Amino acid sequence: MKIAVLSRNTDLYSTQSLVKAGQERGHEVVVVDHLKCNIIIEQKKPTVFYKGHYLNDINAIIPRIGASVTFYGSAVVRQFEMMKVFSAVESQALIRSRDKLRSLQVLSRAGLGLPKTVFTNYAKETDEILSEVGGAPVIIKLLEGTQGLGVVLAENKKAAKSVIEAFHGLKARIIVQEFIGESKGSDIRAFVVDGEVVGAMKRTAKEGEFRSNLHRGGKAEIIKLTEEEEHSAIEAARKMGLAVAGVDILQSNRGPLIIEVNSSPGLEGIEKATGVNVAGKIIQYLERNA
Ligand code: ADP
Ligand code: MG
Repeated sequence: MKIAVLSRNTDLYSTQSLVKAGQERGHEVVVVDHLKCNIIIEQKKPTVFYKGHYLNDINAIIPRIGASVTFYGSAVVRQFEMMKVFSAVESQALIRSRDKLRSLQVLSRAGLGLPKTVFTNYAKETDEILSEVGGAPVIIKLLEGTQGLGVVLAENKKAAKSVIEAFHGLKARIIVQEFIGESKGSDIRAFVVDGEVVGAMKRTAKEGEFRSNLHRGGKAEIIKLTEEEEHSAIEAARKMGLAVAGVDILQSNRGPLIIEVNSSPGLEGIEKATGVNVAGKIIQYLERNA
């Protein structure tokens, strides 16, 4: 099979891991920079033109689309789908996962545990917004943030008010969320491939930080999920339409709460913490479907 990893950077651990896993299983693997693809649309025969050639011999793609290029990246993925190339991540699911509000609405409809969340356009009613999510401390998030950037912990009412007002002043869309203090700066990243949790790690924020993202200096260790956690992770990925997903879960007093479902989850942290060849699991998923 010929597999294209859509990635902007060949040197990234995740990209290299996918290339290696594909080659080990006897496939030809190429890395394609989605931002350098031209999408060619006509009445029939949709194609992608890349570095002087038409990409017409690809059997499957693995999109690794950064949050800053969702629009262009998802258009390239959609083009491959039109060419009947199997994608590890569907373009629609990719787009859905990038909007935290829309994602929470999907998860809520599925009846999954979530931190209570308010979306508001109206900055003047901060008292009502805050009391809706149980009062300060609260979490304030940009709808399209990633790697922990754009997530703020407002410790008291005054801080929360000024942060909400500042974001609104910048016309940035935000959600205000109940702060889950009992998770103590830790969360779970469950890596789902094709309806199964293939690996899970507990991430703990560094001293003085509440965000457990590895990009923010968090530490990872392997963890065995409870049945409820495992079920939540699998259901969250399924409802989001993601065959490959990194599901972030907070352990709360009322059970597992999903905070987000990532559609291009990093492989380095999870492979190193668990020793699982996660990239190999993704390649096997392609083999079953492409
Ligand atoms: P990002 O997309 O930037 O990773 P997340 O929503 O996953 O944004 O939040 C980043 C981190 O902040 C989480 O991994 C978690 O450690 C912490 N966090 C997020 N929401 C909450 C919350 N409601 N209560 C407590 N901690 C939270
Ligand atoms: Mg996250």
